[in-house]
Amino acid sequence: MTTAATTTPSDVVAEAIHAEEAVVAHNYHPLAVVVASADGAWVTDVTGKRYLDCLAAYSAVNFGHSNPILLAAAREQLDRVTLTSRAFHNDQLGPFAQALADLCGKDTVLPMNTGAEAVESGIKIARAWGYRVKGVARDRANIIVMAGNFHGRTTTIISFSDDDDARADFGPFTPGFRTVPYGDADALAAAIDDDTVAVLVEPIQGESGVVVPPAAYLPAVREICTARNVLFIADEIQSGLGRTGATFACDLVGVVPDLYLLGKALGGGIVPVSAVVGNSDILGVLRPGQHGSTFGGNPLASAVGHAVVRMLASGEYQKRARVLGARLHRRLGDLVGSGVLDVHGAGLWAGVDIDPSLATGREVCELLMARGVLVKDTHGSTIRFAPPIVIEESDLDWMVDQLAAVLEELRAG
Ligand SMILES: *Cc1c(COP(=O)(O)O)cnc(C)c1O
Repeated sequence: MTTAATTTPSDVVAEAIHAEEAVVAHNYHPLAVVVASADGAWVTDVTGKRYLDCLAAYSAVNFGHSNPILLAAAREQLDRVTLTSRAFHNDQLGPFAQALADLCGKDTVLPMNTGAEAVESGIKIARAWGYRVKGVARDRANIIVMAGNFHGRTTTIISFSDDDDARADFGPFTPGFRTVPYGDADALAAAIDDDTVAVLVEPIQGESGVVVPPAAYLPAVREICTARNVLFIADEIQSGLGRTGATFACDLVGVVPDLYLLGKALGGGIVPVSAVVGNSDILGVLRPGQHGSTFGGNPLASAVGHAVVRMLASGEYQKRARVLGARLHRRLGDLVGSGVLDVHGAGLWAGVDIDPSLATGREVCELLMARGVLVKDTHGSTIRFAPPIVIEESDLDWMVDQLAAVLEELRAG
Protein backbone atom coordinates (compact mmCIF):
# COMPACT_ATOMS: atom_id res chain seq x y z
CA MET A 1 0.00 0.00 0.00
CA THR A 2 1.19 3.44 -0.89
CA THR A 3 0.65 6.14 1.70
CA ALA A 4 1.42 9.84 1.53
CA ALA A 5 4.58 9.28 3.53
CA THR A 6 5.88 6.50 1.29
CA THR A 7 8.33 7.21 -1.50
CA THR A 8 6.81 5.85 -4.72
CA PRO A 9 8.76 4.75 -7.79
CA SER A 10 7.59 7.86 -9.62
CA ASP A 11 8.97 10.00 -6.75
CA VAL A 12 12.34 8.29 -7.17
CA VAL A 13 12.33 9.03 -10.90
CA ALA A 14 11.19 12.63 -10.35
CA GLU A 15 13.91 13.23 -7.78
CA ALA A 16 16.60 11.82 -10.04
CA ILE A 17 15.39 13.98 -12.92
CA HIS A 18 15.30 17.04 -10.69
CA ALA A 19 18.84 16.39 -9.48
CA GLU A 20 20.02 16.35 -13.08
CA GLU A 21 17.96 19.25 -14.40
CA ALA A 22 18.89 21.53 -11.51
CA VAL A 23 22.50 21.59 -12.64
CA VAL A 24 22.85 20.31 -16.22
CA ALA A 25 22.39 22.77 -19.10
CA HIS A 26 19.03 22.27 -20.78
CA ASN A 27 20.33 21.53 -24.26
CA TYR A 28 18.22 18.35 -24.54
CA HIS A 29 14.59 17.44 -23.80
CA PRO A 30 14.91 13.83 -22.59
CA LEU A 31 12.06 11.44 -21.95
CA ALA A 32 11.26 11.04 -18.24
CA VAL A 33 13.22 7.84 -17.71
CA VAL A 34 16.37 7.57 -15.57
CA VAL A 35 18.55 4.66 -16.62
CA ALA A 36 20.66 2.97 -13.97
CA SER A 37 21.93 -0.13 -15.77
CA ALA A 38 21.67 -1.93 -19.10
CA ASP A 39 22.28 -5.24 -20.80
CA GLY A 40 21.88 -6.12 -24.48
CA ALA A 41 18.81 -4.35 -25.84
CA TRP A 42 17.32 -3.69 -22.40
CA VAL A 43 17.88 -0.88 -19.90
CA THR A 44 16.74 -0.77 -16.26
CA ASP A 45 15.72 2.45 -14.54
CA VAL A 46 16.37 3.63 -10.98
CA THR A 47 13.23 1.89 -9.73
CA GLY A 48 14.00 -1.46 -11.36
CA LYS A 49 11.59 -1.01 -14.28
CA ARG A 50 12.91 -2.45 -17.57
CA TYR A 51 12.63 -0.84 -20.98
CA LEU A 52 13.51 -2.07 -24.46
CA ASP A 53 16.03 0.40 -25.90
CA CYS A 54 14.93 1.03 -29.46
CA LEU A 55 17.18 4.05 -30.03
CA ALA A 56 20.56 2.52 -29.06
CA ALA A 57 22.07 5.95 -28.34
CA TYR A 58 21.50 7.07 -31.92
CA SER A 59 23.23 3.87 -33.14
CA ALA A 60 26.28 4.24 -30.87
CA VAL A 61 25.15 1.03 -29.12
CA ASN A 62 24.75 -1.10 -32.27
CA PHE A 63 26.29 -4.12 -30.53
CA GLY A 64 24.13 -3.87 -27.41
CA HIS A 65 24.71 -2.55 -23.92
CA SER A 66 27.45 -4.26 -21.90
CA ASN A 67 28.49 -6.32 -24.89
CA PRO A 68 30.73 -8.97 -23.29
CA ILE A 69 33.31 -8.99 -26.11
CA LEU A 70 33.68 -5.22 -26.04
CA LEU A 71 33.69 -5.02 -22.22
CA ALA A 72 36.45 -7.64 -22.13
CA ALA A 73 38.54 -5.66 -24.61
CA ALA A 74 38.05 -2.48 -22.56
CA ARG A 75 38.78 -4.14 -19.21
CA GLU A 76 41.96 -5.74 -20.48
CA GLN A 77 43.20 -2.42 -21.81
CA LEU A 78 42.15 -0.49 -18.67
CA ASP A 79 44.69 -2.49 -16.69
CA ARG A 80 47.52 -1.81 -19.13
CA VAL A 81 47.52 1.79 -20.36
CA THR A 82 44.66 4.13 -21.30
CA LEU A 83 46.12 7.40 -22.54
CA THR A 84 49.50 8.32 -23.95
CA SER A 85 48.66 11.26 -26.28
CA ARG A 86 50.08 11.15 -29.77
CA ALA A 87 53.34 12.62 -28.46
CA PHE A 88 54.33 8.96 -28.10
CA HIS A 89 53.37 5.81 -29.97
CA ASN A 90 51.15 3.20 -28.32
CA ASP A 91 50.87 -0.49 -29.18
CA GLN A 92 47.09 -0.42 -29.83
CA LEU A 93 46.65 2.33 -32.44
CA GLY A 94 48.58 0.66 -35.29
CA PRO A 95 46.69 -2.66 -35.21
CA PHE A 96 43.33 -0.87 -34.79
CA ALA A 97 44.01 1.49 -37.69
CA GLN A 98 45.15 -1.37 -39.93
CA ALA A 99 42.01 -3.38 -39.18
CA LEU A 100 39.77 -0.34 -39.74
CA ALA A 101 41.52 0.56 -43.00
CA ASP A 102 41.04 -3.06 -44.18
CA LEU A 103 37.34 -2.96 -43.24
CA CYS A 104 36.97 0.18 -45.35
CA GLY A 105 39.15 -0.99 -48.23
CA LYS A 106 41.38 2.06 -47.73
CA ASP A 107 44.95 2.56 -46.54
CA THR A 108 44.96 5.49 -44.09
CA VAL A 109 43.11 6.32 -40.86
CA LEU A 110 42.93 9.61 -38.93
CA PRO A 111 41.74 8.77 -35.40
CA MET A 112 39.58 11.29 -33.54
CA ASN A 113 36.94 11.06 -30.77
CA THR A 114 33.50 12.41 -31.55
CA GLY A 115 31.56 12.38 -34.79
CA ALA A 116 31.66 16.15 -35.09
CA GLU A 117 35.45 16.00 -34.88
CA ALA A 118 35.55 13.48 -37.72
CA VAL A 119 33.39 15.83 -39.81
CA GLU A 120 35.58 18.85 -38.96
CA SER A 121 38.65 16.78 -39.84
CA GLY A 122 37.12 15.74 -43.17
CA ILE A 123 36.42 19.38 -44.00
CA LYS A 124 40.00 20.43 -43.18
CA ILE A 125 41.46 17.54 -45.18
CA ALA A 126 39.25 18.35 -48.19
CA ARG A 127 40.27 22.00 -48.10
CA ALA A 128 44.00 21.21 -47.79
CA TRP A 129 43.65 18.62 -50.58
CA GLY A 130 41.94 21.28 -52.71
CA TYR A 131 44.78 23.75 -52.29
CA ARG A 132 47.73 21.37 -52.37
CA VAL A 133 46.59 18.71 -54.83
CA LYS A 134 43.71 20.05 -56.92
CA GLY A 135 45.26 23.51 -57.21
CA VAL A 136 42.39 25.68 -55.95
CA ALA A 137 43.47 29.25 -55.11
CA ARG A 138 43.93 29.81 -51.39
CA ASP A 139 40.73 30.44 -49.38
CA ARG A 140 38.53 29.89 -52.44
CA ALA A 141 37.49 26.28 -51.70
CA ASN A 142 33.81 25.40 -51.45
CA ILE A 143 32.13 22.23 -50.22
CA ILE A 144 28.67 21.10 -51.34
CA VAL A 145 26.32 19.93 -48.56
CA MET A 146 22.74 18.69 -48.53
CA ALA A 147 19.48 20.26 -47.37
CA GLY A 148 18.27 18.54 -44.21
CA ASN A 149 21.80 17.46 -43.23
CA PHE A 150 22.98 16.66 -39.74
CA HIS A 151 26.73 16.46 -39.20
CA GLY A 152 27.13 17.60 -35.58
CA ARG A 153 27.14 20.73 -33.46
CA THR A 154 30.39 22.66 -33.84
CA THR A 155 30.36 26.24 -35.08
CA THR A 156 31.55 25.31 -38.57
CA ILE A 157 29.15 22.38 -38.89
CA ILE A 158 26.09 24.37 -37.83
CA SER A 159 27.16 27.00 -40.34
CA PHE A 160 25.83 24.71 -43.08
CA SER A 161 22.86 23.28 -41.18
CA ASP A 162 19.39 24.38 -42.26
CA ASP A 163 17.85 23.58 -38.86
CA ASP A 164 16.94 26.92 -37.23
CA ASP A 165 17.30 25.54 -33.69
CA ALA A 166 20.84 24.45 -34.49
CA ARG A 167 21.85 27.87 -35.84
CA ALA A 168 19.91 30.64 -34.13
CA ASP A 169 22.14 33.02 -32.17
CA PHE A 170 25.30 31.03 -32.88
CA GLY A 171 26.61 33.12 -35.79
CA PRO A 172 28.70 34.46 -37.38
CA PHE A 173 29.03 31.38 -39.53
CA THR A 174 31.90 29.75 -41.36
CA PRO A 175 31.77 30.46 -45.12
CA GLY A 176 32.62 28.03 -47.91
CA PHE A 177 29.55 25.77 -48.08
CA ARG A 178 26.75 25.46 -50.64
CA THR A 179 23.50 23.65 -49.94
CA VAL A 180 21.64 21.63 -52.60
CA PRO A 181 18.51 19.46 -52.28
CA TYR A 182 19.19 15.93 -50.97
CA GLY A 183 18.68 13.20 -53.54
CA ASP A 184 18.94 15.53 -56.57
CA ALA A 185 22.04 14.67 -58.62
CA ASP A 186 21.34 17.33 -61.27
CA ALA A 187 21.26 20.07 -58.64
CA LEU A 188 24.53 18.76 -57.25
CA ALA A 189 26.20 18.73 -60.68
CA ALA A 190 24.99 22.29 -61.33
CA ALA A 191 26.38 23.58 -58.01
CA ILE A 192 29.93 22.32 -58.58
CA ASP A 193 32.48 24.77 -59.94
CA ASP A 194 36.28 24.76 -60.31
CA ASP A 195 36.72 25.69 -56.64
CA THR A 196 34.60 22.80 -55.33
CA VAL A 197 36.77 20.43 -53.30
CA ALA A 198 34.22 18.05 -51.81
CA VAL A 199 30.65 16.84 -51.58
CA LEU A 200 29.64 15.97 -48.02
CA VAL A 201 26.67 13.64 -47.81
CA GLU A 202 24.91 11.25 -45.44
CA PRO A 203 24.13 8.11 -47.49
CA ILE A 204 20.91 7.94 -45.45
CA GLN A 205 19.91 11.07 -43.51
CA GLY A 206 19.48 9.97 -39.88
CA GLU A 207 18.43 13.03 -37.87
CA SER A 208 16.30 14.18 -40.75
CA GLY A 209 14.10 11.12 -40.15
CA VAL A 210 15.95 8.14 -41.71
CA VAL A 211 15.57 9.52 -45.22
CA VAL A 212 16.75 7.15 -47.98
CA PRO A 213 17.64 8.86 -51.28
CA PRO A 214 16.62 7.36 -54.66
CA ALA A 215 18.71 4.23 -55.48
CA ALA A 216 20.45 5.94 -58.40
CA TYR A 217 21.49 8.97 -56.35
CA LEU A 218 24.70 7.91 -54.60
CA PRO A 219 26.07 6.18 -57.73
CA ALA A 220 25.39 9.46 -59.58
CA VAL A 221 27.16 11.45 -56.83
CA ARG A 222 30.14 9.10 -57.24
CA GLU A 223 30.23 9.64 -61.02
CA ILE A 224 29.91 13.40 -60.74
CA CYS A 225 32.64 13.63 -58.09
CA THR A 226 35.03 11.51 -60.17
CA ALA A 227 34.32 13.47 -63.36
CA ARG A 228 34.79 16.86 -61.65
CA ASN A 229 37.77 15.89 -59.47
CA VAL A 230 35.85 16.51 -56.26
CA LEU A 231 36.11 14.39 -53.10
CA PHE A 232 33.08 12.30 -52.16
CA ILE A 233 32.87 12.38 -48.36
CA ALA A 234 30.34 9.96 -46.89
CA ASP A 235 29.23 10.73 -43.34
CA GLU A 236 28.55 7.16 -42.16
CA ILE A 237 28.69 8.13 -38.47
CA GLN A 238 25.11 6.95 -37.91
CA SER A 239 24.45 4.83 -41.03
CA GLY A 240 27.67 2.82 -40.92
CA LEU A 241 29.01 -0.19 -39.02
CA GLY A 242 26.21 -2.69 -39.50
CA ARG A 243 23.07 -0.64 -38.90
CA THR A 244 21.66 -0.90 -42.43
CA GLY A 245 22.44 -4.58 -42.97
CA ALA A 246 25.77 -3.77 -44.62
CA THR A 247 29.06 -2.52 -43.22
CA PHE A 248 28.34 0.87 -44.80
CA ALA A 249 25.12 2.28 -46.21
CA CYS A 250 27.17 3.09 -49.33
CA ASP A 251 27.61 -0.69 -49.83
CA LEU A 252 23.86 -1.05 -50.34
CA VAL A 253 24.19 0.75 -53.67
CA GLY A 254 27.70 -0.40 -54.53
CA VAL A 255 29.35 2.97 -53.99
CA VAL A 256 32.81 3.67 -52.56
CA PRO A 257 33.39 7.23 -51.30
CA ASP A 258 36.82 8.88 -51.12
CA LEU A 259 36.51 9.48 -47.38
CA TYR A 260 34.45 7.66 -44.79
CA LEU A 261 33.54 9.60 -41.65
CA LEU A 262 32.92 7.12 -38.83
CA GLY A 263 31.96 7.47 -35.18
CA LYS A 264 29.16 6.42 -32.84
CA ALA A 265 29.21 2.56 -32.96
CA LEU A 266 32.99 2.61 -33.53
CA GLY A 267 33.30 3.22 -29.77
CA GLY A 268 31.21 0.15 -28.95
CA GLY A 269 29.01 2.21 -26.62
CA ILE A 270 31.95 2.48 -24.23
CA VAL A 271 34.17 5.38 -25.28
CA PRO A 272 33.89 8.01 -28.02
CA VAL A 273 35.89 6.83 -31.06
CA SER A 274 35.71 8.44 -34.49
CA ALA A 275 37.83 8.36 -37.61
CA VAL A 276 38.33 9.67 -41.11
CA VAL A 277 39.30 6.79 -43.40
CA GLY A 278 40.61 7.18 -46.94
CA ASN A 279 43.67 6.71 -49.09
CA SER A 280 47.06 8.30 -48.52
CA ASP A 281 46.81 10.46 -51.66
CA ILE A 282 44.16 12.43 -49.73
CA LEU A 283 44.91 11.93 -46.01
CA GLY A 284 48.61 12.36 -46.81
CA VAL A 285 48.03 16.12 -47.10
CA LEU A 286 48.16 16.33 -43.29
CA ARG A 287 51.64 16.94 -41.95
CA PRO A 288 52.85 17.03 -38.32
CA GLY A 289 51.40 19.93 -36.37
CA GLN A 290 48.55 20.63 -38.82
CA HIS A 291 45.81 18.68 -37.06
CA GLY A 292 45.43 16.69 -33.87
CA SER A 293 43.61 15.65 -30.74
CA THR A 294 44.88 14.81 -27.25
CA PHE A 295 42.61 11.79 -26.93
CA GLY A 296 42.42 10.69 -30.59
CA GLY A 297 43.87 7.21 -31.07
CA ASN A 298 44.34 6.60 -27.36
CA PRO A 299 45.04 2.98 -26.34
CA LEU A 300 41.67 2.39 -24.65
CA ALA A 301 39.73 3.79 -27.62
CA SER A 302 41.93 1.81 -30.02
CA ALA A 303 41.44 -1.45 -28.12
CA VAL A 304 37.65 -0.99 -28.10
CA GLY A 305 37.54 0.22 -31.72
CA HIS A 306 39.65 -2.74 -32.79
CA ALA A 307 37.24 -5.14 -31.07
CA VAL A 308 34.35 -3.44 -32.89
CA VAL A 309 36.10 -3.86 -36.24
CA ARG A 310 36.85 -7.52 -35.49
CA MET A 311 33.16 -8.10 -34.75
CA LEU A 312 32.18 -6.50 -38.06
CA ALA A 313 34.81 -8.42 -40.04
CA SER A 314 32.82 -11.66 -39.76
CA GLY A 315 29.72 -10.07 -41.33
CA GLU A 316 27.42 -11.69 -38.75
CA TYR A 317 26.08 -8.38 -37.35
CA GLN A 318 25.44 -7.02 -40.84
CA LYS A 319 23.52 -10.21 -41.65
CA ARG A 320 21.51 -10.03 -38.43
CA ALA A 321 20.58 -6.38 -39.15
CA ARG A 322 19.55 -7.43 -42.67
CA VAL A 323 17.36 -10.34 -41.55
CA LEU A 324 15.79 -8.60 -38.54
CA GLY A 325 15.52 -5.40 -40.56
CA ALA A 326 13.43 -7.10 -43.25
CA ARG A 327 11.11 -8.32 -40.50
CA LEU A 328 10.96 -4.87 -38.88
CA HIS A 329 10.10 -3.11 -42.15
CA ARG A 330 7.50 -5.75 -43.08
CA ARG A 331 5.78 -5.48 -39.69
CA LEU A 332 5.92 -1.67 -39.55
CA GLY A 333 4.63 -1.54 -43.13
CA ASP A 334 1.48 -3.32 -41.93
CA LEU A 335 0.72 -0.25 -39.77
CA VAL A 336 0.55 2.13 -42.73
CA GLY A 337 -3.02 3.36 -42.85
CA SER A 338 -3.57 2.73 -39.13
CA GLY A 339 -2.04 5.96 -37.89
CA VAL A 340 1.23 5.57 -39.81
CA LEU A 341 1.64 7.52 -43.05
CA ASP A 342 4.92 6.03 -44.24
CA VAL A 343 7.84 3.86 -43.17
CA HIS A 344 11.34 4.32 -44.60
CA GLY A 345 14.87 3.23 -43.81
CA ALA A 346 17.18 0.29 -44.32
CA GLY A 347 18.14 -2.70 -42.24
CA LEU A 348 17.46 -2.34 -38.53
CA TRP A 349 16.76 1.36 -38.96
CA ALA A 350 13.32 2.77 -39.62
CA GLY A 351 11.70 6.19 -39.71
CA VAL A 352 7.97 5.91 -38.99
CA ASP A 353 5.89 8.94 -40.00
CA ILE A 354 2.99 9.25 -37.59
CA ASP A 355 -0.21 10.81 -38.92
CA PRO A 356 0.03 14.31 -37.37
CA SER A 357 -3.75 14.49 -37.03
CA LEU A 358 -3.49 11.55 -34.59
CA ALA A 359 -0.56 12.62 -32.38
CA THR A 360 2.86 14.22 -32.36
CA GLY A 361 5.94 12.03 -32.47
CA ARG A 362 6.68 13.06 -28.90
CA GLU A 363 3.25 11.94 -27.68
CA VAL A 364 3.71 8.54 -29.31
CA CYS A 365 7.16 8.22 -27.70
CA GLU A 366 5.67 8.97 -24.28
CA LEU A 367 2.93 6.39 -24.73
CA LEU A 368 5.51 3.84 -25.89
CA MET A 369 7.64 4.62 -22.86
CA ALA A 370 4.69 3.88 -20.57
CA ARG A 371 4.59 0.45 -22.26
CA GLY A 372 8.31 -0.11 -21.79
CA VAL A 373 9.64 0.90 -25.23
CA LEU A 374 12.19 3.72 -25.52
CA VAL A 375 12.36 5.58 -28.84
CA LYS A 376 12.85 9.16 -29.94
CA ASP A 377 11.03 11.40 -32.36
CA THR A 378 12.90 13.49 -34.90
CA HIS A 379 11.45 16.57 -36.56
CA GLY A 380 7.92 16.54 -35.23
CA SER A 381 6.08 13.47 -36.40
CA THR A 382 8.75 10.95 -37.38
CA ILE A 383 9.85 8.28 -34.91
CA ARG A 384 13.18 6.58 -35.37
CA PHE A 385 13.50 2.90 -34.51
CA ALA A 386 17.13 1.78 -34.25
CA PRO A 387 17.36 -1.00 -31.65
CA PRO A 388 20.70 -2.66 -30.90
CA ILE A 389 21.50 -5.25 -33.58
CA VAL A 390 21.66 -7.90 -30.83
CA ILE A 391 17.92 -7.47 -30.14
CA GLU A 392 15.98 -10.76 -29.99
CA GLU A 393 13.43 -11.35 -32.73
CA SER A 394 10.67 -11.81 -30.12
CA ASP A 395 11.57 -8.43 -28.56
CA LEU A 396 11.46 -6.80 -31.98
CA ASP A 397 7.96 -8.22 -32.53
CA TRP A 398 6.92 -7.04 -29.08
CA MET A 399 8.21 -3.54 -29.88
CA VAL A 400 6.04 -3.33 -33.01
CA ASP A 401 3.08 -4.76 -31.06
CA GLN A 402 3.45 -1.92 -28.56
CA LEU A 403 3.44 0.67 -31.36
CA ALA A 404 0.32 -0.95 -32.84
CA ALA A 405 -1.35 -0.83 -29.42
CA VAL A 406 -0.44 2.83 -28.92
CA LEU A 407 -1.85 3.75 -32.33
CA GLU A 408 -5.04 1.84 -31.55
CA GLU A 409 -5.32 3.63 -28.22
CA LEU A 410 -4.94 7.00 -30.00
CA ARG A 411 -7.44 6.12 -32.72
CA ALA A 412 -9.99 5.10 -30.08
CA GLY A 413 -9.46 8.64 -28.68
C1 LIG B 1 25.67 11.90 -34.53
C2 LIG B 1 26.15 12.34 -35.86
C3 LIG B 1 27.25 13.21 -35.98
C4 LIG B 1 27.92 13.86 -34.80
O1 LIG B 1 28.46 12.93 -33.92
P1 LIG B 1 28.81 13.38 -32.39
O2 LIG B 1 29.56 12.22 -31.86
O3 LIG B 1 27.50 13.61 -31.72
O4 LIG B 1 29.63 14.62 -32.50
C5 LIG B 1 27.69 13.52 -37.26
N1 LIG B 1 27.09 13.01 -38.35
C6 LIG B 1 26.03 12.18 -38.27
C7 LIG B 1 25.42 11.64 -39.52
C8 LIG B 1 25.51 11.83 -37.03
O5 LIG B 1 24.45 11.04 -36.94
